[in-house]
Amino acid sequence: MRKTSVTFRALKLYHGYNKRYFPLQFFRTLFQQMSPYFNLWMSAEIVTALYDGKTGRELFVLVAVTLIGNLFLHIAGAMLGRAVSTESNRLTDNESTAFNRKTLSLDYDKLENPETRTLRRKITENAYINSYGVLAMRYAVEDLFRCGISLALAVVLFAEMLVSIVRAGLTLLSVFLLIGLIGFTAVSVLYRRYAEKKTSKQNKRIGDMFLEENRLSNGYALQGLDTRIYNQTGIFAKLSEQVNKEHFKLTSKVRMYAWTLGLPFRVLSTLSEICAYLLVCFYCLAGVFPVGGVIKYVGCISRVTGNVIDLFYNLNRLTVNEPFVKTYLQYFDLPNEMYQGSLAVEKRSDKKFDISFCDVSFRYPGASEYALKHISLDLKVGERLAVVGMNGSGKTTFIKLLCRLYDPTEGEIKMNDFNIRKYDYREYLDLFSVVFQDYTLLSLPLGNNIACAESWDTAKTERLIDEVGFGERYRDMPSRLNTPLYKHFDEDGVNVSGGEAQKIALARALYRDAPFIILDEPTAALDPIAEAEIYSKFDSIVGDKTAIYISHRLSSCRFCDKIAVFDQGQIVQIGTHSELLSDKNGKYCELWNAQAKYYT
Ligand code: ADP
Repeated sequence: MRKTSVTFRALKLYHGYNKRYFPLQFFRTLFQQMSPYFNLWMSAEIVTALYDGKTGRELFVLVAVTLIGNLFLHIAGAMLGRAVSTESNRLTDNESTAFNRKTLSLDYDKLENPETRTLRRKITENAYINSYGVLAMRYAVEDLFRCGISLALAVVLFAEMLVSIVRAGLTLLSVFLLIGLIGFTAVSVLYRRYAEKKTSKQNKRIGDMFLEENRLSNGYALQGLDTRIYNQTGIFAKLSEQVNKEHFKLTSKVRMYAWTLGLPFRVLSTLSEICAYLLVCFYCLAGVFPVGGVIKYVGCISRVTGNVIDLFYNLNRLTVNEPFVKTYLQYFDLPNEMYQGSLAVEKRSDKKFDISFCDVSFRYPGASEYALKHISLDLKVGERLAVVGMNGSGKTTFIKLLCRLYDPTEGEIKMNDFNIRKYDYREYLDLFSVVFQDYTLLSLPLGNNIACAESWDTAKTERLIDEVGFGERYRDMPSRLNTPLYKHFDEDGVNVSGGEAQKIALARALYRDAPFIILDEPTAALDPIAEAEIYSKFDSIVGDKTAIYISHRLSSCRFCDKIAVFDQGQIVQIGTHSELLSDKNGKYCELWNAQAKYYT
């Protein structure tokens, strides 16, 4: 992608978040920038009128026009300013929604992928710590509006002056002054760009140091008990101090350097202003334009220089920002490679969805070892399957494949005789309710959390709350289902304990009424006995649904119809509790005996 096209693409994408913002901002800037030129113009008229000894009435009209014009520009600018600030909020909201939507729509393997995580982290860091990215692009474009409009207005006045001068006839002196004016302006603009390039490397180093300082201070803010005990904050404080010192030294040095480099620029721009004054005064004395022209033209010439410099500066800002905008686009360009499928999932009231794993093996993207090897297993409607095994044996990976968060590396998974890849992805996902180990509850009302929707069926929600054993606590909640969880956004929010949160997560899984329900050790924080109780209680609530229970604690799952024992990515045994226990040399028996001491 060519460099400029990167910024154009990003700008188009950003403009799409709120199409009203940039046009409104443009007109607001137009009104704001018209104000100084209007005043220059009117001041020139008033000075000329005074010099020409115009009547009080004529002067009064000029002053009145100036005041009314200013009032109009001010009111128009303020009204547009208000609209701009509303649209700006909408723009930033839509931008963050688009970013979150992209994240949510990513294939799961991409989402978990370290490269994607780094990309997302970089975008956030660039934006909030380094001030680069789409927001920096937006500010640069706004500044371009400002100096572009101002320059266009200044050029109109400058052209008017040139026309008057050329019409009146050029002399050697005026040509000399004109060349001086244009030459000094051009040289000062070029010099300024050169000076900026000279300091840019050091400024980049200062930026990097700033980033480092922020990272360290984030670490410094860590508030865990262990950070206190090991005095880890002390390490951050020391490192922070070192970087601060270096930062201060370099900043002072660069400031001095920039000031020295700035001197010739000041001399050059003063020389160009002197030429402008002499030229204007010369033609004013010759009677080519009235005395007010001195104010008008000198004012506009000095603005031309400033605006040309700003124009280059902001174009340069866009160029410097380009790699960061590219990172942003890269994220939006991440393709979804997972086959989405098109086969409609049958709506079956008997929930008859039979699953078969046919010699499935799986390796995580980038991993050298297989997490699952040659898994073959059938799961019939209404069955209770327990997946047991030590940590790291592949239980969660098995569920991730079943829910199509990943596709198998080898072999296939079938549902009612069709490869699950063939089914419409969203419809297939809707068949499952899963309570993962690391479930998340949102800082929203309890009802929203359980129904996962804006509204909820109160009778159904309350029945489920009772069924999962959360009823007593629920009845103490001040606004029942409208009670917000946690206090992040609401002072009246209630904090729930780990165990209570698990119950809410279970109620949420049941509310969905999906044909499959999966519990992936959501109870890991509980003791073995409490887990066993929840699992067996849950079994009676599940009814005719097909259920899968995952646990590294065998006692929790002994009631299941079928127990699959996972070991190092393979199913090493499958059967009922008593069948498995009867094989004294089996893995199940070994694990059972190892864990039995906790239950007796
Ligand atoms: P369990 O649920 O039985 O504790 P997992 O299914 O989580 O086991 O893990 C099985 C194996 O796959 C482990 O060796 C684990 O390190 C590896 N693994 C799990 N998640 C990932 C991942 N996202 N990327 C790479 N390897 C992973």
